Amino acid sequence: PPPTLLHPEKWCRGFNHFISQCLIKDFEKRPTVTHLLEHPFIKQVHGKDMSLQKQLAKLIQEQQQLGSVAKTRHERIHTRRPYHVDGADKYSQDDDLVNLEVLDEDTIIHQLQKRYADLQIYTYVGDILIALNPFQNLSIYSPQFSKLYHGMKRSSNPPHIFASADAAYQSMVTFSKDQCIIISGESGAGKTESAHLIVQHLTFLGKANNRALREKILQVNPLVEAFGNACTAINDNSSRFGKYLEMMFTPTGAVMGAKISEYLLEKSRVIKQAVGEKNFHIFYYIYAGLYHQKKLSEYRLPEKKPPRYIDNETGRVMHDIVTKDSYGRQFEAIQHCFRIIGFTDEEVYSVYRILTGILNTGNIEFAAISSQHQTDKSEVPNPEALDNAAALLSIGSEELQEALTSHCVVTRGETIIRTNTVDKAADVRDAMSKALYGRLFSWIVNRINTLLHNTENGMNVGILDIFGFENFARNSFEQLCINIANEQIQFYFNQHIFALEQMEYQNEGIDAATVEYEDNRPLLDMFLQKPMGLLSLLDEESRFPQATDLTLVDKFEDNLRCKYFWRPKGVELSFGIQHYAGKVLYDASAFLEKNRDTLPADIVVVLRTSENKLLQQLFSSPLTKTGTFCNSFAYFATFSVDTMEVMRHPEETTNMKRQTMASYFRYSLMDLLSKMVVGQPHFIRCIKPNDDREALTFSHERVLLQLRYTGILETVKIRQKGYSHRILFEEFVKRYYYLAFKAHESPLGSRENCLTILEKAKLENWILGKTKVFLKYYHIEQLNLFLREV
Ligand code: ATP
Ligand code: MG
Repeated sequence: PPPTLLHPEKWCRGFNHFISQCLIKDFEKRPTVTHLLEHPFIKQVHGKDMSLQKQLAKLIQEQQQLGSVAKTRHERIHTRRPYHVDGADKYSQDDDLVNLEVLDEDTIIHQLQKRYADLQIYTYVGDILIALNPFQNLSIYSPQFSKLYHGMKRSSNPPHIFASADAAYQSMVTFSKDQCIIISGESGAGKTESAHLIVQHLTFLGKANNRALREKILQVNPLVEAFGNACTAINDNSSRFGKYLEMMFTPTGAVMGAKISEYLLEKSRVIKQAVGEKNFHIFYYIYAGLYHQKKLSEYRLPEKKPPRYIDNETGRVMHDIVTKDSYGRQFEAIQHCFRIIGFTDEEVYSVYRILTGILNTGNIEFAAISSQHQTDKSEVPNPEALDNAAALLSIGSEELQEALTSHCVVTRGETIIRTNTVDKAADVRDAMSKALYGRLFSWIVNRINTLLHNTENGMNVGILDIFGFENFARNSFEQLCINIANEQIQFYFNQHIFALEQMEYQNEGIDAATVEYEDNRPLLDMFLQKPMGLLSLLDEESRFPQATDLTLVDKFEDNLRCKYFWRPKGVELSFGIQHYAGKVLYDASAFLEKNRDTLPADIVVVLRTSENKLLQQLFSSPLTKTGTFCNSFAYFATFSVDTMEVMRHPEETTNMKRQTMASYFRYSLMDLLSKMVVGQPHFIRCIKPNDDREALTFSHERVLLQLRYTGILETVKIRQKGYSHRILFEEFVKRYYYLAFKAHESPLGSRENCLTILEKAKLENWILGKTKVFLKYYHIEQLNLFLREV
């Protein structure tokens, strides 16, 4: 008799046994929840109980892992899905949306939902991978799984992110060509997790003898993310910067180094966070770490109440730090990362002093001094905070106070000292904190690059993981930049998947059906065009001293006359944008100030006098302007005369034409694209199945929306009908001549020779154009496999 559900433990044992007897005999059959629910045994035990579904899914997953892991390699080879050279039935129908006979939204979503319920979070659309966030830890990423997906045909195993990483790696090794994996999706969809998994699998594949190097590379993401990620309303570990990680390999495919480029760190988070959000993780880690190590006093931090910059939910942070030790453990983990990657103790100590210096700076307060003649003067009523900050930054306390409460102006060759109001002084303090953090972040990234970079010739796989599309209750300048960057990535995807492909059909005289898609180019033009795009208008307005955020929105309204922009009635400082991923309402308060991003020269002068060598370096060598808006490479390329002059003659700053955040942002985007276009792209589209971060919950509506705006239906169509690989005859013959010619022959790159190779390989459904061979996405894998066999 079936064991009863009232005793879950007993039942599970019975159930496991049942599965292994009836369904798991062959791992490849992969029983699904749907199958099981229809099984008489299960029906008898419990009808369509939701909790049962979840339980079943979990058990199936465990069983599959046991099944796959327990098998020897030999066994696995024999139970793998059969490979058909003639091109028929290459995939298990469910694994690839391209195999759907009826192509509409309903069918696609139903398919994804069914798979999600079975914990099949990955699904292919031809060569593109869709990844649904499982919101639970799956044990499908162990070294056994890395082995399972190593060098296999995609059709051998269920879809997996390791298979995509593997495809990029194999492609790099086979064709000696750089690759680029582009991970996209909205905030919380799983991009960063996916990026980690890719690095994990690539490190596994690129087995270098140098174990230490592998270890170092694995520490890069955790370290950089401690400084660049934070808890937001959407995601507890949200990336607040864009990251392009290039893993470098020798020509034979051994990993030999890594390099990170960072983009657009959201520095404003250092000084202020929205309700329910937090500062960058590292601040909590260090405060908790020092608290538990009883070292707070050494870094002049108060014990009872955390510094203002990390205490926006009064009492909560302290409670978490005292009661939970996770922050403290994270701090230890970060110390470990620094050590493994190769930072010296002195460097790490300097980093800690700067971080705690920033926390102390945030505690400096200002009060107005009113006298008959002067009402705009301020002083520091809590000098101990000033002393603490100055001590940790190794600068003079008086000099710091002076730089915060007054500024120099040069008029007709004469230097005049003007005092700062309370608000101005607080702004200067916060600008200093942002600049310190921004430059520190850039320095850490540059230092990692120095420690891990390898100048030898090789190839690389780049992994792009940026901040996802955001739509909060209140959206500011940061969200605008983040969303424009996502708009650009979507445009890149469209170009690759639709535009370039269809253009080639025309040029080569090929009659392949065209697929309509949503082109976001007009929207991108609205942002980036010169001189009338939104960013240019923002820059123009930022140059007028009299301009206000209201005049800015007026300017937008007067000039951006298109359907993507609107101004809601009754809310003065607000404007709306119809993004590719939905409508977003922006609040323009502080747009001008954030765009100007000024760091008074007086502050630079004081910080340069620091006895902390690292800090001195951050402000004397022109690493980046006031922060990390671009990486070092971008910096040198955009390095403007203005910035150089500011460094040399700080007193003249006020008269200089400044670089703005908008112009850095524009450059950063270009820099990123220039890196991406060099490599052969692989796309991973992350999808968030629900907004409650719940496992096994699939919101039809939310997924549909994401499928729509990312153009998945159109992608399926073009992959079904189109030819995703177009290779010049010459290149094709060069790559594959082994298949039909002798090794010592050097056949011409002619149409006829291509034909000979294609016929010899017994491929089907290809087309020859005027100069290129047009192949389906699955042909490449088949050809490569033949090559390996030959
Ligand atoms: P953002 O744009 O805000 O940086 P993101 O797309 O990078 O978001 P992640 O931080 O990768 O999102 O994922 C959000 C959370 O979802 C993770 O912290 C993790 O809890 C969960 N998650 C995502 N992918 C997986 C996975 N493959 N397995 C388990 N949990 C996952
Ligand atoms: Mg992320």
